Amino acid sequence: MPELPEVEALAGQLRAAAVGRSIGRVDVAAPAALKTFDPPVTALVGRAVTGAARWGKYLGLRAGELVLVTHLARAGWLRWYDALPAVPPRPGRGPIALRVHLGEPGAAPGFDLTEAGTTKRLAVWLVDDPARVPGIAALGPDALAVSTDDLAALLRAKPGRLKTVLTDQSVLAGIGNAYSDEILHAARLSPFATAARLTAAQVAALHAAIGTVLTDAVARSVGQRAATLKGEKRAGLQVHGRAGLPCPVCGDTVQQVCFAERSLQYCPRCQTGGRVLADRRLSRLLK
Ligand SMILES: [Zn+2]
Repeated sequence: MPELPEVEALAGQLRAAAVGRSIGRVDVAAPAALKTFDPPVTALVGRAVTGAARWGKYLGLRAGELVLVTHLARAGWLRWYDALPAVPPRPGRGPIALRVHLGEPGAAPGFDLTEAGTTKRLAVWLVDDPARVPGIAALGPDALAVSTDDLAALLRAKPGRLKTVLTDQSVLAGIGNAYSDEILHAARLSPFATAARLTAAQVAALHAAIGTVLTDAVARSVGQRAATLKGEKRAGLQVHGRAGLPCPVCGDTVQQVCFAERSLQYCPRCQTGGRVLADRRLSRLLK
């Protein structure tokens, strides 16, 4: 799933490539992905793109007072094309949810919002105010903007395990499954620690890790074309998706806990005092 750094990079790519271009046509290939109907997407036609923005893991394309917002969900992505074909994508089948032509269709660049797999969760809204998107209205402070004191207060107010709280978008916006594993590893904290019971030193370590992990990932990602972003993300990870491989910090074997739809990875020596927590009862604790 694209998280804060990837969405920031996609916003950067849109700022560089789309701003100033006029929207020629919008093809809706997955009508279920479109969550708003007023204004209709045809209201974008003829408008110039004026900016791109990010709210947590939501991406927005501004065209005057209208904002086309998307949440790429688990398997969604933005694909940029220097020359988009004029023929609209066939609705219903295939990965394309929405296509935006930035100029005369057939003679202009543009992008597709795509989603791999059979579970379709990618969502698109056309609004005059991003706060009209319920998920954006419910976001906590941005993970890159929160102070140590604010973070301490947010963690104290939230029951639950650290991994769960860190990925709760209403607590902090922008951190998902991959970067939470990376942040907890960098902070040397167990994913199963009780969020509300961290010491001041642990909160400070967590705050520093959020800053360095996300800032490094943004620096690696921004400037990358969307096509190379996923590989860039994978190359920068220390524990996430690396179960069975040696921890780059201490050499211990990275362990994992599997859930129905996802898994988390951690280093026992760096994070849990050497204890291996890959256990069913623990995976239940994180639900
Ligand atoms: Zn380690």
